[in-house]
Amino acid sequence: QAKDAGRSNFRVFTEDMLHKANNRLMVEQDISSAISERQLMLFLQPIVSLDGGVIKGFEALVRWFHPSRGLIMPGSFIPHIEESDAIIRVGNYVLGEAVDMLKRLRLQGWDDLYIAVNLSARHYLTPGLSDFIRKLLTASGIPPKCLLLEVTEESVIEQVDKAMEVMRELKMLGVRIAIDDFGTGYSSLSYLKQLPFDVLKIDRCFTAGVLENGADTHIVTTVIDLAHHLGRTVVAEGIETELQREFLEAAGCELAQGYLFSKPICEERAMEILKGITEGREWPRSGDGELL
Ligand code: C2E
Ligand code: MG
Ligand code: MG
Ligand code: MG
Repeated sequence: QAKDAGRSNFRVFTEDMLHKANNRLMVEQDISSAISERQLMLFLQPIVSLDGGVIKGFEALVRWFHPSRGLIMPGSFIPHIEESDAIIRVGNYVLGEAVDMLKRLRLQGWDDLYIAVNLSARHYLTPGLSDFIRKLLTASGIPPKCLLLEVTEESVIEQVDKAMEVMRELKMLGVRIAIDDFGTGYSSLSYLKQLPFDVLKIDRCFTAGVLENGADTHIVTTVIDLAHHLGRTVVAEGIETELQREFLEAAGCELAQGYLFSKPICEERAMEILKGITEGREWPRSGDGELL
């Protein structure tokens, strides 16, 4: 009996492994056609100034409109490809699309907006990334400062020396760098001081707890002060309530992003909102039925 149980456990184990391997292979193969058939789309989430609610830029967040599986969110496929070269193809595609969006924004007269793009560790640690970005910027005529590259605190800490080298190289192009999901990666203060970044994004898990959790409230105010002492700008992620907004504004945080202002939206919708603003209309905040 024990032997039988052992055997079936073994079988379950291998089937599970096989399933995962197949799944990963499937995602990797599918991703190639996703790119060539333009199934990947960048949604844009506004990043706004806390004093005045002015849109300063957008974070580009990828969505996969799969022909048979429907909408796939980045959390369901990015982690599957982050350990393979597929992430480099996806990442380069996303960079190209973001620069194209910046071109279209400029055509509409929006010269000062920026787009933030998320970079996975394997992608930004690949030699040639800064060349690729330099060529994209030169060919498009987009000022480098309009591109902001987000790297997570966790990914930087894993290979801090290499990451620092890449960040320096990217900074020389004139692009800006943000440390994403700050607070979840346990970086030491001495690293933080040395890393050449411009923007610090406080992770949603801390902003969610302000006003409810004393520790989170202190962490958030301390992180904002720390970033300011280092001369960096702070973005609070995941702002969902007016009370959170007021608290962060009072704490001196410059920028915020979250469902209170807008969920990630398609480019067309973003253009409509911008157009409305030039026409003097107050732009709609959350609850306007934008589900993505
Ligand atoms: P992230 O870079 O930290 O992006 C913020 C995530 O929080 C987004 O989820 C956004 O929709 C969500 N969010 C924003 N405001 C709120 C809020 O008020 N409440 C809640 N509950 N959520 C909010 P999304 O679009 O599902 O993306 C998840 C993650 O996938 C991103 O986290 C990023 O790490 C990754 N990702 C997305 N696009 C790309 C990409 O093009 N390349 C890479 N490498 N990673 C990407
Ligand atoms: Mg991000
Ligand atoms: Mg984040
Ligand atoms: Mg995140």
